[in-house]
Amino acid sequence: MKLPGRIKLANLPTKIEKLKLGEKFNKNIYIKRDDQTGTEISGNKVRKLEYSVKEALDQDADVLITCGGIQSNHARATAAVASRLGLKSHLVLRGNQGDNLEGNYFLSKLLGAEITFITADEYKNNRMNIMEKIKENLKDIGLRGYILPEGASNAIGSFGYFNAIKEIMEQEKQLDIKFDAIVTTVGSVGTFTGLLLGSEYYNSNIDIIGINICDSAEYFKEKTIELFYDLNVYFGNDIKVDYEDINILDGYTGLGYALSKQDEIDFITRFAQEEGIILDPVYTGKAMYGFVEELKKSTFDKYDNILFIHTGGIFGWNEFARNMIK
Ligand SMILES: *Cc1c(COP(=O)(O)O)cnc(C)c1O
Repeated sequence: MKLPGRIKLANLPTKIEKLKLGEKFNKNIYIKRDDQTGTEISGNKVRKLEYSVKEALDQDADVLITCGGIQSNHARATAAVASRLGLKSHLVLRGNQGDNLEGNYFLSKLLGAEITFITADEYKNNRMNIMEKIKENLKDIGLRGYILPEGASNAIGSFGYFNAIKEIMEQEKQLDIKFDAIVTTVGSVGTFTGLLLGSEYYNSNIDIIGINICDSAEYFKEKTIELFYDLNVYFGNDIKVDYEDINILDGYTGLGYALSKQDEIDFITRFAQEEGIILDPVYTGKAMYGFVEELKKSTFDKYDNILFIHTGGIFGWNEFARNMIK
């Protein structure tokens, strides 16, 4: 297997802590604090950027180009990495110049990112072309651009979570725990697919379960198959995955991407007060909410030790979600 190069950006290994939540369900439920991979450079995207940005540096890139929603955690982390490494960043964001300067958008500006706003329609249908155009324009002024796709969820980026399995297996030994299942948020599928392939490759005996926070489970299962294939090609592996074996639990997208329902916000508020851990409204809040609903429905009955990955997102608490806190 061909291993990609890496630069060190994240504070690793991230801590694994036990949640009180498990007591209610007679299980051991743990949380892996990937929200603590750093401060500016924080959350799950950092594990991916360690590999993607190494490739960018190897290609002598001057500018990191990427995309996301206006409150994209990935875009902010990319802007921070660029500044840290003396590169520039150009972010293509779905939103409006007039939107409140807060959260990740504010931080990305503070970190010096150049920002191009596009509409939801342009984002859905044309974001790759728009980023290619930016890259071409840079070339005209003698600069080299490197494009990271949404969420850095391509083969190279997803390797970050392939590798996280190794870290988790080492922590199993240190903590003397054998995890039966890992639960993670699915947003652009890189985290989930990386974990899934890593779990197979290292024979971890841990089931990987995703909870999608937008679109549908079917959509993400297809995406998982595609990315799994790309990863195999990239790394010269031939590990099989069947559609039927991909475990993504649907039903928790609520009102859609980055939109919050009152019961989600109420859940996150209770969780914060019971556990002292802040989830985000866009990703981990919805996923943890879904996870607890599924625990109630007995979906996890066959597992004793479950690890939820806290993928970060604290800067995504936008004004709309904040105002829903009672
Ligand atoms: C991007 C993101 C996710 C989803 O990860 P993917 O690899 O894109 O599926 C989950 N949580 C947070 C906080 C994120 O920013």
